[in-house]
Amino acid sequence: MIPVNEPLMGEQELEYLTDCIRTGWISSAGEYLDRFEHVWADYCGVKYGVAVSNGTTALEAAVASLDLEPGDEVILPSFTIISCAQAVVYSQGVPVLVDCDPETWCMDTDQVAARVGPRTRAIMPVHIYGHPVDMDPLWELAARHGLKIIEDAAEVHGAEYLAGHSTGEGEWRRCGGLGDLATFSFYANKLVTTGEGGMVVTDDAATAEFLRSERNLWFEPPRRFRHSRLGHNHRITNLQAAIGLAQVERIDEIVTTKRRMGHAYNERLAGIEALQLPVERPWARQVYWMYGVVLGDDHDYDAEEFTRRLAEMGVQTRPFFLGMHEQPVLRERGWYVDESYPVTERIARRGLYLPSGLTITESQIDQVCAAVRAVLS
Ligand SMILES: *Cc1c(COP(=O)(O)O)cnc(C)c1O
Repeated sequence: MIPVNEPLMGEQELEYLTDCIRTGWISSAGEYLDRFEHVWADYCGVKYGVAVSNGTTALEAAVASLDLEPGDEVILPSFTIISCAQAVVYSQGVPVLVDCDPETWCMDTDQVAARVGPRTRAIMPVHIYGHPVDMDPLWELAARHGLKIIEDAAEVHGAEYLAGHSTGEGEWRRCGGLGDLATFSFYANKLVTTGEGGMVVTDDAATAEFLRSERNLWFEPPRRFRHSRLGHNHRITNLQAAIGLAQVERIDEIVTTKRRMGHAYNERLAGIEALQLPVERPWARQVYWMYGVVLGDDHDYDAEEFTRRLAEMGVQTRPFFLGMHEQPVLRERGWYVDESYPVTERIARRGLYLPSGLTITESQIDQVCAAVRAVLS
């Protein structure tokens, strides 16, 4: 079976990790943690990085920093992972949804303005499967209504966006440096991994300070164990940061490998009528976190059947997200019951992603593409 993803560990990871073990710096303080935070924030073009236990807790900490009042609203895409909506709910907010773009699968930014109301406090764009969200219209709305932007950049390490492209000019900037805050996941299948791990990055010193306290139980000077606020233990270890630092040191190579993989799939799968492939907008440099495909409406199979048949041919896949408005745990609050997000609903049923890990070889890509053609012919 060709796995949908496999992490790629190197000698440098082993060396740094060994150093942690030899020196005893195995907990949530240490040189690698500091370096990892600095190097990653710097790469994203922002000042501060606060590493946490995973991408979900990164989102929770980021939303907590907004200090929402109960009932305050955050606008996010229907097509995303539950972590996004959950972070808003845990802060007593309401996730308000917009559908996604049928080609980039990212939040349809044309739908956001209509969802802004008196309780809106923030917008949470989620860059999907490696492709950046179009940020220009979101910046404009955020400025007009005084909203914060939290980027969920868990799937786009190293992706770039042509900021200001809608004015005809523009400047290439990395995802992660496009919002007031941005969150990353370093889960085993992400472009940069620490096994489990995450980070919030921001340019704002006070927000970074908040995040450091939030991840560490709000210990405060001068009297340790005296608390005036409740937080979490969302710490990450120096061991994980050691792995992360080694990965970040070869981020250019990782991005190049992913883009090469994406282009290899694009070439080999072009022209299959039943299949919609990922796009890359002129204002985006996408990193193909996962190579997603969507079956055309008039094809006999849905994604489930497609998955089953590909598995029979030795190709492992994963289904697309299921929309937030279709989540029982959110609908039971009375939310989204009369709402429909047709693009999300369609791609949730007709989309899957193909093996996309950093260890995939050209000949495995050939095999996957041959299997896809065979199954669809
Ligand atoms: C992976 C992912 C997360 C969650 O990260 P974990 O580290 O698995 O908690 C959040 N948002 C998006 C878009 C993701 O892909």
